[in-house]
Amino acid sequence: MHPTQRGVEMPPPTGWYPEPRDKFQFAFLPMIDCFARICYNTPKGVFTVIYIGCHLSVTNGCLAMGETMLGFGGDTFAFFTRNPRGGKSREIDPADAAALSALLAREGFGPLVAHGSYTMNLCAANPATLQNGLEMFADDMKRMAYFPGQYYNFHPGAHVGQGAEKGIELISAALDRFLTPDLPFTVLLETMAGKGSEVGGSFAQLRQVIDGVAHSEKLGVCLDTCHVWDAGYDIVNDLDGVLTEFDKTVGLSRLKAVHLNDSKNDLGSHKDRHEKLGQGRIGADALRRAVRHPALQGLPFVLETPNDDAGYIEEIVLVKEWMAEA
Ligand code: FE
Ligand code: FE
Ligand code: ZN
Repeated sequence: MHPTQRGVEMPPPTGWYPEPRDKFQFAFLPMIDCFARICYNTPKGVFTVIYIGCHLSVTNGCLAMGETMLGFGGDTFAFFTRNPRGGKSREIDPADAAALSALLAREGFGPLVAHGSYTMNLCAANPATLQNGLEMFADDMKRMAYFPGQYYNFHPGAHVGQGAEKGIELISAALDRFLTPDLPFTVLLETMAGKGSEVGGSFAQLRQVIDGVAHSEKLGVCLDTCHVWDAGYDIVNDLDGVLTEFDKTVGLSRLKAVHLNDSKNDLGSHKDRHEKLGQGRIGADALRRAVRHPALQGLPFVLETPNDDAGYIEEIVLVKEWMAEA
């Protein structure tokens, strides 16, 4: 469920700055923010309202993840739909998934951003690997039916020497098979670092994938700050410019989620090594600007930083401080 599509049965705001779980009532506030910036050239956002959370382990089931994130103080999260490195995956218990859905609605969570397996390659050159990827994707579509209104994000794939054009064609063809008008959730292509033969290292490639899919209304993009930086998009010195380019190429209406990570490497390194917020080459100031950027308001932001639980809690607190700054 996107914040703008939510119901109106939530309590009234408690103060000048909306409590996180009231914030979907304030879908219009980002617009005020934009207005203030454009008309009055305000240096900072008037309101900052994003959803924040981190990647969680699915080991203890669905409801347990929601309860864990409540304890962390967040209001979105990510989880692997299956073993991220391949292998057997546990079935989803429908009652457990329903209990999670109830918690998400009750607590005013933003959309969840589930993550497909790293080994799933929808444009593999090896026929067996490709077939395996297609089977994983098909199974993930079934699993995601238990999470209506949420997001399913995946790495588009690696063309392994076939060339980007061929890779894009294969990914689009695969998506075209599974994206139907009745799909109860949205599929997100993740922006990639362009490591090796990865497809999705440029906004133009994502656009091409989307263009090859009939029911592309079921398709969005998840922007990973580490990946775009590593791919060569300078979000440190020109976040506005990068988002403008995204808008021109893909369209900001496709942007459904953000992976909030610092990077161990330099701009354009094509490495994909995540770092804790403020401890990498992107730095706290640039990540803070991303959290507060008018174009990114209302989106779920998911931390994929190298952290234990305590570290994630610290980063969630930090991001909420950035949000609350006047
Ligand atoms: Fe990812
Ligand atoms: Fe990511
Ligand atoms: Zn990554």
